[in-house]
Amino acid sequence: MTAASPLSFANSATPHPLYPKLFEPLDLGFCTLRNRVLMGSMHTGLEDKAADFPKLAAYFAERAAGGVGLIVTGGFSPNLAGWLKPFGGTLRWPWEVGRHRQVTGAVHAHGGRICLQILHAGRYGYSPLQVAPSKLKAPINPFTPRALSAGGVERQIRAFVRTAQLAREAGYDGVEVMGSEGYLLNQFTAPRTNKRSDTWGGDPGKRMRFAVEIVRRIRETCGPDFIIVYRLSMLDLVDEGLAWDEVVQQAQAIEAAGATLINTGIGWHEARIPTIATSVPRGAFTGITARLKPHVSLPLVTTNRINMPDVAERILANGEADMVSMARPLLADPQWVNKARDQRAADINTCIACNQACLDHVFENKTASCLVNPRACAETELNYGATAKPKRVAVVGAGPAGLACATVAAERGHRVTLFEAGDAIGGQFNLAKRIPGKEEFHETLRYFGRRLDQTGVEVKLGTRADAAMLSPFDEVVLATGIQPRQVDFLGHDHPKVASYLDVLTGRVVPGRKVAIIGAGGIGFDVAEYLVHDQAHASPSLDPARWRAEWGVDLAYEGNRGGLGAPQPEPPAREVWLLQRSPGKPGARLGKTTGWIHRAALKAKRVRMLGGVEYLGVDDDGLHIRVDGRDQVLPVDAVVVCAGQEPFKPLAAGLAGSGIPVHVIGGADVAAELDAKRAIAQGTRLAAAL
Ligand code: FAD
Ligand code: NAP
Ligand code: SF4
Repeated sequence: MTAASPLSFANSATPHPLYPKLFEPLDLGFCTLRNRVLMGSMHTGLEDKAADFPKLAAYFAERAAGGVGLIVTGGFSPNLAGWLKPFGGTLRWPWEVGRHRQVTGAVHAHGGRICLQILHAGRYGYSPLQVAPSKLKAPINPFTPRALSAGGVERQIRAFVRTAQLAREAGYDGVEVMGSEGYLLNQFTAPRTNKRSDTWGGDPGKRMRFAVEIVRRIRETCGPDFIIVYRLSMLDLVDEGLAWDEVVQQAQAIEAAGATLINTGIGWHEARIPTIATSVPRGAFTGITARLKPHVSLPLVTTNRINMPDVAERILANGEADMVSMARPLLADPQWVNKARDQRAADINTCIACNQACLDHVFENKTASCLVNPRACAETELNYGATAKPKRVAVVGAGPAGLACATVAAERGHRVTLFEAGDAIGGQFNLAKRIPGKEEFHETLRYFGRRLDQTGVEVKLGTRADAAMLSPFDEVVLATGIQPRQVDFLGHDHPKVASYLDVLTGRVVPGRKVAIIGAGGIGFDVAEYLVHDQAHASPSLDPARWRAEWGVDLAYEGNRGGLGAPQPEPPAREVWLLQRSPGKPGARLGKTTGWIHRAALKAKRVRMLGGVEYLGVDDDGLHIRVDGRDQVLPVDAVVVCAGQEPFKPLAAGLAGSGIPVHVIGGADVAAELDAKRAIAQGTRLAAAL
C-alpha cells in the first residue's frame, strides 16, 4: 500500500500516521471541529481599540489558515464593571458588532471557527468600577471592589447573556465563559472570595449558582447550535479555593446547564505557584483534567505548557482530555497545526514559554508579540516579501540576532553567508539552554537550524570573519554579540574569581560555597544553575518532582485549591546573590516571571542582598560592606555576572570600505539587551534589506 499524502489526512476518515488523536475531528453534535487543537484565549492588546480590529482579524486569520480547530479570542468584558482595565475591549452594544464581523469573517474565510471569550474581571479589574461577590481586595490590585447586591448579580448575568447574543450576531461560532483564573465567576465559586449569605453564597451549590445561571441562560437565548465553552478552575492553587468534590459538582452542573465543552483553568492570578513559565514542565497539569473525565460526559479541553505535537498527542492518547488548548505556541507559530499535520514538527517555531513579548507586554500595556516570532500581532506591517534586488549579504555571528536576520534575508531571496566563530549556531542561547528550567531554548536552536537549511543560507561555522573576508559582499550585518563586563575590585584576578562564561561552559566547577556578583538575568540564571545538582535532570523535565517542589497537589489530599506543602529539593550549593544597587535583587526581571525566579531561589536558601559594596577577594572569601557593616562571605568561588558590553571590533575595520554595515543585537546595544530585541532587530533589518 502506498503512503497517502500527508495533506489527505485533513478532514478525512484516515487516521493521521503520527498524531491520530490530534487530527481526529471532534463532533459537537451541531458542528464538527476539524481537529483537537483549541487556540486558547490570550489578550493581545488589539482587542481594546476599534481601529486595531483589522490587525486582530489578520492575526486570527493566519492562525485559522494555519489549521487550528477552534479559536477563542482574548477576553471581552460584558460591561464596564467587568473591565480588566479602563477602556479595555467590551462587546455590549449593537454598534460594536460590525468590527467583530471583520474577525469572524476572516477566520471563516479560512475554514476556521471562533468563539468570543466573555471575561468579567470582578475584583481583578484595574478600575474603581469593579465589583465582586464580597468586598475583599485582591492582593494584586490596589482597588477594593464593591460587593454586588442581589440586583447587581442579576445585572451581571444579563450582561453576559447580552454579550453572547451580540457575539452570535457578529458571526462567532460560540462563546467561552471565563470561569477560572480568579476572575468574577471564580470569585463566586470559591469560599476565599465569596462570603455572601444570600442565595448567591454559602454552600457550594449557592456559590456556583451564578456561573450555572450564566451558562443556562446563554444556552436558552442563543439556541442549541451555539458553542458554549466553560473555562472551569480545576485547580485554584490558593487558600480557600475549591475542594475537589466542588470542582466535580460544578462541572456536572455546568454540563447540565448546556455547556458544549469544558476548558481547564489552572491557578488564580494571585497564586504563588508558576503555571505557564518556561520552568513549568510540559503538560504538568493535564492530570487534573484527566481526573475530571470520568465525572462528566461532555468533551474536556486541557491546557498549560503543551507546545509540541508529541506532547499533545500523548495527552490525548492517554485519554486525559478530548482537546488541547494552546495560546502562546500559536503566537510563536501560526502554522503549528499544519506543520504537525504535514509531519513537519521539526519545522515548528516552538514557544519557549518565556512570556517576554506576550504576557509581559500585556502587563506593560503594550501590544503582545512573540520573542521567537516578531510577526505575531504585526501581520499587517511586518512581511517578508521577495526582494526585487537580490544582494550578497554577509551576516557575522550566529546568535539569535544573526540567525533571525540571515534566515529572513535568505527567505526574501538574498544570497546570505553566515559566519560563526564557534562550532555551533546559537551564540549565548547555548549557555541559556544549560540553565535548569530553560531547556526549551534548545527548541529555538533546532528551529533556526532547520530554517538555515530551508532558506539556503551558506553557514560557515568555526570561521571568525575579518574585514578581508567581508569585502566581496553588498551588505554586511554585524551580529557579533557581547563581551562580559570586567570588574576591577581588589582581588578580581584571584583564582577564586570566575566569569559566568567559565562556569556555564563547565571550564570552572565552583566549590560548595559561591558568591555571585551581579543580580541581573544572568546572575539569577547562574544561581539557578549552581543550586541544582548537575548530575541529575532538572525538575522542569519531571512533572512529579516539579509539583512536589512547588506544592501542587493534583490528588487534593491536602488543602482546598490543590495546595500541598512545598518540598524543595536541597540546594547543591550555598549561594549568595549580590548587587550594588539598593533594594530587592530581581526587581528588573520580567514582570510576569521575576517573582518566580526570586521564589525559586528563596526555596533553595539563596541569600539575595542589595546595597552591597565589594571590598575585595582573598583566600578567606569575598569581603563586602552592607549597611556600613563589613563582613566576609567564606566562599570557594566568586562568579562575576556584572553585565555585558557590545563586541564589534569589525566595525572599525569596515569603516571606509564603502560596504553598508549594519550592527544588530548585543553588538549594537548590550545594556538591557535580551533575545526579544535581538531577534526583532535582526528580523526587521532583513525585512528592509
Ligand atoms: P550572541 O548570542 O552573543 O551571539 C553573537 C555570536 O557572534 C556568537 O556566537 C559569537 O561566537 C559570534 N561572533 C562574534 N564575533 C565573530 C566573528 N568575528 N566572526 C564570526 N562570529 C563571530 N535573553 C532573553 O531574552 N531571555 C532569556 O531568558 C535569556 N537568558 C539568558 C541566559 C543566559 C545564561 C545568557 C548568557 C543569556 C541569556 N539571554 C536571555 C540573553 C540572550 O541570549 C542574548 O540577548 C542574545 O543571545 C543576544 O543575541 P546576539 O545574536 O546579539 O548575540
Ligand atoms: P544586567 O541585567 O544588566 O545585570 C548586570 C548586573 O551586574 C546587575 O545586577 C548590576 O547591578 C551588576 N553590575 C553592573 N556593573 C557592575 C560592575 N561594574 N561591578 C559589579 N556589578 C556590576 O545584565 P546580565 O545579567 O548580564 O544579562 C544580560 C542580558 O541578558 C539582560 O539585560 C537580560 O535582558 C538578558 N537575560 C534575560 C534573562 C531573562 O530571564 N529574561 C535571563 C538572562 C539574561 P548593580 O549595578 O546594582 O551591581
Ligand atoms: Fe512563547 Fe515567549 Fe513567544 Fe510568549 S514571547 S509566545 S512565551 S516564545
